[in-house]
Amino acid sequence: MIPNSTAARDVAYLLHPYTNLSAHRESGPLVISRGKGIHVYDEEGREYIEGLAGLWCAGLGFDQERLVEAASRQMRQLPFYHAFGGKVPDVLVDLAEALMAIAPKPLERALFVNSGSEANDLAVKIAWYVNNALGRPEKKKIIARRKAYHGVTVMSGSLTGLAYAQDGFDLPVSRVVHVDTPHHYHGAEPDESEEDYATRLAEQLEATIQAEGPETVAAFIAEPVMGAGGVIVPPRTYFEKVQAVLRRHDVLFIADEVICGFGRTGNWFGCDTFGIRPDIMTVAKQLSAGFLPIAATLVSGPVYEALVAGSDKHGMFGHGNTYGGHPVAAAVALETLKIYHEMDIVGRVRRVGTALQEGLRRYIDHPLVGEVRGLGLIAGVELVADKASRTNFDKARGIGAGLVRRAQAHGLLTRAMPGDLIGFCPPMIIDEAGVAEMLRRFDVALEESWSALREAA
Ligand code: PMP
Repeated sequence: MIPNSTAARDVAYLLHPYTNLSAHRESGPLVISRGKGIHVYDEEGREYIEGLAGLWCAGLGFDQERLVEAASRQMRQLPFYHAFGGKVPDVLVDLAEALMAIAPKPLERALFVNSGSEANDLAVKIAWYVNNALGRPEKKKIIARRKAYHGVTVMSGSLTGLAYAQDGFDLPVSRVVHVDTPHHYHGAEPDESEEDYATRLAEQLEATIQAEGPETVAAFIAEPVMGAGGVIVPPRTYFEKVQAVLRRHDVLFIADEVICGFGRTGNWFGCDTFGIRPDIMTVAKQLSAGFLPIAATLVSGPVYEALVAGSDKHGMFGHGNTYGGHPVAAAVALETLKIYHEMDIVGRVRRVGTALQEGLRRYIDHPLVGEVRGLGLIAGVELVADKASRTNFDKARGIGAGLVRRAQAHGLLTRAMPGDLIGFCPPMIIDEAGVAEMLRRFDVALEESWSALREAA
């Protein structure tokens, strides 16, 4: 590394999230300097397609003058205010109204925070608070799924079901129970239909609730499509059957829409795609198209009424962040929602998403590809060592990571997730030509990986 270069100063001064720290000390960072459309550019001016919309968030790409203007207008008018103690910045009311106009039923109200992790943490606090208010203080456990990603705080990191996010941190904490990942490709028995597999998973959930004691289980949390755990689309009828179990035991459904929200799956929310009626829902990321940090926890009418009862009992609803619902972030989110409406984001994702899904499904016959999955503008390609037995490569070989490095060299940024799953979640402004170019770059990297593997064999 050149002394005093940005890379050298990065290694000297930064501690990196989700990074192998010793490897990073040797190799240094990829320094990104600017963005335009679906592209970002490194400090040497090399162009990359952002195949994962940054961190699944930059839904409108990397330049949107209207969002810049919305932020600067709000900064001039009212750069900070809060919603504590009955005050409110006007723009936050506008945003809440715009959000409720598209939110799935029966959600009615939103509390704004700064990140998906905080929103999920708050969802759990709300579930606990509600059950205290309803006089059932034992009903507190939260059921999540293995491979789920719900964040990094002590509680949301506990709900997350991925070893790499928990090892060394003494997570998960108590009161969290994990059930199986609904992944037909790996989890189903040979010849088991998606519907039968979904029935079995719902029965497993029922058995788990019975074993824990229904009077101790407060909520179930799920991403409609699991993102960071490997773009896992649930088997047909899964959520219908899961919701029936939850209703029987008076267990709240928390939908984590942090990735799926705002058009990504071809509907406004993943809940719409899968017929989920959430009691609590969390959103972040594409709420502001990634331009500023803002997130929210939405609640249904009955949940809200229980919070009111709790607040009467305790003197107030004792939760809030200094920057939760920051007016500048709220102004940007409000403008983001306007842009989504104007560009008919749902129709667009359905149209361009078809090109992405069909384009990727061509790889299903490739010797290295086990499964291609996804819907709308979120997808994944899973690499396997043996197609017949659906066996993944030994993790230590880093086959997926190797492909991602090659893709980067060919101008495509993406990520390898556990089980060598290569993720695709491009900015939703991408068009058919952009999809074709993204797949062309992926294709080159895939062929290089395949050649390297054959040479090594
Ligand atoms: N939930 C899901 C589904 C996510 O993908 C993420 C972030 N990748 C989070 C929650 C946590 O959000 P944040 O990183 O903003 O805390």
